[in-house]
Amino acid sequence: MAKSDTPPAVVSAERIEKGLWWERPWSLVDGCTPVSEACDHCWSARGAARWTHRLSGLTTDGKFNGQVRIMPDRLEIPLKRRKPTVWAVWNDLFHQAVTLEFISKAMDVMTATPRHTYVVLTKRAVRMRWAVEQVLMANHSDRLPANIWLGVTAENQARAAERIPALLATPAAVRVISVEPMLGGVSLFDGASSLAKDIECRARTEKPYGFKQQIGWVICGGESGGGARPMDPDWARSLRDQCNAAGVPFFFKQWGKRAAGHVLDGQTHLEFPATVEIAEAAEPKE
Ligand code: SF4
Repeated sequence: MAKSDTPPAVVSAERIEKGLWWERPWSLVDGCTPVSEACDHCWSARGAARWTHRLSGLTTDGKFNGQVRIMPDRLEIPLKRRKPTVWAVWNDLFHQAVTLEFISKAMDVMTATPRHTYVVLTKRAVRMRWAVEQVLMANHSDRLPANIWLGVTAENQARAAERIPALLATPAAVRVISVEPMLGGVSLFDGASSLAKDIECRARTEKPYGFKQQIGWVICGGESGGGARPMDPDWARSLRDQCNAAGVPFFFKQWGKRAAGHVLDGQTHLEFPATVEIAEAAEPKE
């Protein structure tokens, strides 16, 4: 494959130090509907309950209440930023209330800005797969550009088993699994789980994409904030070891409730797929 001339998208060292893997948020959708255990303490809903009048009416008792506002005026934000940047697409772009037309426009912006990397995480993996297939079909294409990374949240084994097969069937160049908040042990690559067999089987059959391309990146983090549920360190260790054995970049974001920081067994694990770089920390001012 020809080497890309596009410089790597960047996350600053200062943000990485805080356990943040994105440089800029891109909120195309406000509001949501809780769908699983990971949503119990949704930080976005908590923020919306506290923040400005723009977000009023989207929450009830601190949780998203199913109202969703699509924000077309924010579509152009990445077009105006020249510096190659890693964007986190916040909230759930694949919520059932978000139209295919809007999803398609968002994908158009991402496609038109290969200098940026976009990480789009969802808990609605089946709808994501459907929407991506529709967008690709309309564009007479068979795979999204390499700068659009699609992923699912897999907070425990049950959600991993529910969402990852749909992710594997989604024709994304980079697929991401976010195990955050980690609410249970997750077996992705250890060979014993049916999920591991599914991933391995696809790696053998889907050419020219190999094992690493099946799952391009794994993020892991504990839950933080009021009422946070603690993460067992052995869950994080197991996921780290599975990723190491499979050669999949592993980003350990935070301990959450259990402890400050993101050091696991004396080491940080802040790996990205190769197309993203951590920018040097700025020199301290004299
Ligand atoms: S899907 Fe995401 S944004 Fe929506 S309620 Fe759950 S955690 Fe919050």
